[in-house]
Amino acid sequence: MSFEIKNIVRKNIFNLAPYSSARDDFSGNASIFIDANENSLGSPVVGDYSRYPDPHQRILKQKMATIKRVPAANIFLGNGSDECIDVLYRAFCNPGKDNVIICPPTYGMYEVSANINDVEVRKSLLTTDFQLNVEDVLSKVDANTKLIWICSPNNPSGNLLHEADIDFLLQNFSTGIVVVDEAYIDFADQVSFSQKLAKFPQLVVLQTFSKSWGLAGLRLGIAFASEAILSILNKIKPPYNINQETQRIALDALQNEALANARTKELLDLRLQLTTSLEQLTIVKKIFPSDANFLLVQFDDPQLIYNILMENGIIVRDRHSVILCEGCLRITVGSAEENQKMVEVLSKL
Ligand SMILES: *Cc1c(COP(=O)(O)O)cnc(C)c1O
Repeated sequence: MSFEIKNIVRKNIFNLAPYSSARDDFSGNASIFIDANENSLGSPVVGDYSRYPDPHQRILKQKMATIKRVPAANIFLGNGSDECIDVLYRAFCNPGKDNVIICPPTYGMYEVSANINDVEVRKSLLTTDFQLNVEDVLSKVDANTKLIWICSPNNPSGNLLHEADIDFLLQNFSTGIVVVDEAYIDFADQVSFSQKLAKFPQLVVLQTFSKSWGLAGLRLGIAFASEAILSILNKIKPPYNINQETQRIALDALQNEALANARTKELLDLRLQLTTSLEQLTIVKKIFPSDANFLLVQFDDPQLIYNILMENGIIVRDRHSVILCEGCLRITVGSAEENQKMVEVLSKL
């Protein structure tokens, strides 16, 4: 069956008349704006925040379009990827009726957001080398399956999923949306699935400013998708979900792309150095191959290691109780100094 947005979106959302803001009614040039009940005298703080921000983030999206090689019309921005994830549930999944498929071990928000929205979660385990079992994924699909969540590079394992497997899912599932979460794609040696939007109308690609751009505190996530899908997401997002400072600072970051790229390269060098240092430690059982800015590392006694690191003021992510991650801690690549301190603590064991 071919992809038809009308058959997939929730009926109430399809019929929704969205909020129309003052900035929607008029967006041209004028000298006096007394249409939005803003404070005409300004605020008590330094900086000009008295006006509502652009609800469509036009300038930011234009710059992003150039850098990401995706037309501005195919870009949606959320208050972190978290908001993009939630908005996808609210657009496509009828509570108490529809279901989604996730591929554990994977990012926790897909399931939490499903639970918040009262949506059934079906699980198709990754293989022991953290790849998709595509036949198993498709066997879980039924008429109420609305979203398939793919995370590549995957969190917490760190590896890219095979491009051919994701293509296969896209070729064989078009009665719902396939979401490819690429939060770590800038650390990987692979072209983004955002370049396949024209080929697959049911594809949504998520990216974020939280990782390679170093702006987790800002809360800015990106969803790339067809205009048909974005027209639905834009209907349900809060009108001013991306604040003025976030738009300004993100634009500033994009204009300094070279510096972000240099930092990304540096982190890849640091990842290699950290891998080499950890490999020399006898307490390390296995380091899984990473295409991201973190390593999944297996120990004999992960809880002991976790506690000793903590006693030394070093916090890593304990994943030992996560399926297929038995014995594992997830370690973000730190600065050269941070990595060295951690290895020092571990080498004393
Ligand atoms: C870190 C991360 C994100 C980013 O979430 P934000 O809400 O944009 O900070 C998204 N997906 C995955 C898999 C992540 O690990």
